[in-house]
Amino acid sequence: MNIHTGCPNIPNIDSFLLKARGILLSKHLSNNGPLVTELEYRLAEYLDVRHVVTVCNATVGLMVALKALALGGEVILPSFTFIASAHALQWEGIKPVFCDIDPITHNIDASKVERLITDKTTAIMGVHIWGRPCSHKELLALARKYKVKLLYDAAHAFGTTYKSRSVAALEDISVISFHATKSFNTFEGGAIVTNNDELANKVKLMRNYSFNGEDNVTGIGLNAKMSEIHAAMGLCNLDSYTEVLEHCKRIYSYYKEKLPDVLGMSIIDYPENENHNYHYIITEIDENDFGCSRDAVHSHLKANGVVARRYFLPGCHKSEPYKSLYPGVYLPYTDTLCRRVLALPGGSGIKELVQIDKIIALLKQIRSWGKYSA
Ligand SMILES: *Cc1c(COP(=O)(O)O)cnc(C)c1O
Repeated sequence: MNIHTGCPNIPNIDSFLLKARGILLSKHLSNNGPLVTELEYRLAEYLDVRHVVTVCNATVGLMVALKALALGGEVILPSFTFIASAHALQWEGIKPVFCDIDPITHNIDASKVERLITDKTTAIMGVHIWGRPCSHKELLALARKYKVKLLYDAAHAFGTTYKSRSVAALEDISVISFHATKSFNTFEGGAIVTNNDELANKVKLMRNYSFNGEDNVTGIGLNAKMSEIHAAMGLCNLDSYTEVLEHCKRIYSYYKEKLPDVLGMSIIDYPENENHNYHYIITEIDENDFGCSRDAVHSHLKANGVVARRYFLPGCHKSEPYKSLYPGVYLPYTDTLCRRVLALPGGSGIKELVQIDKIIALLKQIRSWGKYSA
C-alpha cells in the first residue's frame, strides 16, 4: 500500500454522521447556522484571538481580507508560497511584488523587503511557511515606518505561536486554511482572524454579500460563507485535535532522531519554546552532498510506494501569469529552495513508525547509488 504525503485527518466517523443527521433534520444548511457559530466561538478560544470569521476557503478568505483592508497598487509577498497567495492579490487587481526568502527559515526575508517598497505599496503579506512564524517584529517595524498594512497568509499556521502569542493574532489580519490537506480541516474552508473589531465587522459583512440585516446591502460583497456540514467536520476535528497533534509530534521526532546520519539531507527544525503543529515533514536535499537530485529521490520513493511532495514548484514568479506579467524577477534563494524541498509523509499518512523506517531505508539506498554514479 502506498504511503502518502498530505493525508487528511479524519475525525470520529460516528460523531460526524450524528452531526450531519442533525443538520438534515434541522433544515438549517447554511447562512450562519448554529454549528458555524459554535465553531467560530471554539476556534477563537483555541487560537486565543478576538474574532474568527469562517469562510468557504482560504483563497476567498484572502480576497475578502484584501478588500476589507482596502488594498490596491502593490503588495509585497514571498514567491516561495502556494500560488493562491499571489492569485488572491492579482484577482483583486493588486500587483504582487515578489521578495526573496531567508534560506534558513524559508520565510520572506524582512531585510529584503524595504528595497521593494514604492509609493504604490499598500501592504506586506507574510506567509508562515510550514507554520513557522515570519519575522514579525521586523515586518511590523517596516509596516509602521512606511504606513502600510501587514497581513498574513497563515494557511499553514493553525495552532502555532510567535513569542508565545498565537500567530493568528498578529497584525492586522491573518487567513488560515482548513483545506482537507491542512493540519486542521473542514473538508474545504478557512478563517479570517483578527483582534480588530472594526475589521472583523467588515469581513463578516463582506462574506455575506455585505447584507446588514434583511434587504440592506451596505457595499460590495461576495459569498464566502462556510456551510453547516463543513462546520460539523471542524467541530469533530477539533474534538480529536489534541491526539492529532501528539501523533504528528511523535512522527516528526522519530524522523529527526533517525535521519541525521543521512548526509546531505536534513529535516527542518521547528522553533523550541513555541507551539507547533508538526504537520509538515520537510527535508532539504543538497544534490552535491547527497549524491543525487531531489527529483531523483522523489521518483525513487514513488516507484517504491512512497508519495512525497515537492514544494513549491516552481516559485510563483516563475508561474503564469506572473512570469509573463512581471518578467525579470530574480530570486536566487527561492529558486534554490524550490529545487531542494521535499515533503515526506507525516501526520495521519503514517500509522506505524516502521513505515518511517522503510522510507529512511529507501533514502539511504538511493544515497548510496547516487554516490557510486557520481
Ligand atoms: C492551502 C494554501 C492556501 C489556500 O487555501 P485554500 O483553503 O485551499 O483556499 C493559501 N496559501 C497557502 C500558503 C496554502 O498552503
